[in-house]
Amino acid sequence: MPEAIDRYLKKYGFKAFSPKAVLFDMDGVLYDSMPNHSIAWQKSMEKFGIKMTAHDAYATEGARGIDTIRTMVRQQQGRIISEEESQRMYDEKSRIFHEMKEAPVMPGIKELMSQIAAQGIGIGVVTGSGQRPLINRLLKDFGNYLDVEHITTAYDVSRGKPAPDPYLSGLKKFGGLNPWEAIVVENAPLGVEAGVAARIFTIAVNTGPLPDECLLDKGADLLFPNMQNLSDSWKSIVL
Ligand code: CA
Repeated sequence: MPEAIDRYLKKYGFKAFSPKAVLFDMDGVLYDSMPNHSIAWQKSMEKFGIKMTAHDAYATEGARGIDTIRTMVRQQQGRIISEEESQRMYDEKSRIFHEMKEAPVMPGIKELMSQIAAQGIGIGVVTGSGQRPLINRLLKDFGNYLDVEHITTAYDVSRGKPAPDPYLSGLKKFGGLNPWEAIVVENAPLGVEAGVAARIFTIAVNTGPLPDECLLDKGADLLFPNMQNLSDSWKSIVL
């Protein structure tokens, strides 16, 4: 994939691409959790008279949940609601999500992390979620490759994706890396937008139902159909 790297360097005028850390998004990247999120969104919003489709759930993935709710209420009911009201609605979404069966680890991700670790490259997670049980689960499932100091959650930043802040925070957690010293792995349009806004080489993995264009249009530097495929191709990106 040297062409993609050349294109990336040229776009920003960077001199070299030397990855020292890979920053992974969580839902839809580390876990096959988006089907559950999509169902929880649809069921919870229906209770409040808000119509949310599966497509809406995927298209808004990565944004702060309370922001998504405030936008939908404004669009569908013409009301401006407070953060508190939005949070109460979001709590219902979380409640339904946590009653569902635990989402499986994404096939291929551990194989990929093992390759990255063997290359001496660090592994971090940058998620819009801030729920303690999820952090504990991350450490349980990926503790061989990941420690808590390298996890960025909703509480580390006030502006969520698609702003660059979460990924800039991810760079800081590795001692202040430059953008050309990291790689972002994302599955959602707003997440790709955030990685690109942070000027980090951003790999999209389209694990959901949206067309590839949704990710490419946001500026993804590379696109893979799934995590196993990215793992199989890893050494053609980072030697
Ligand atoms: Ca995601």
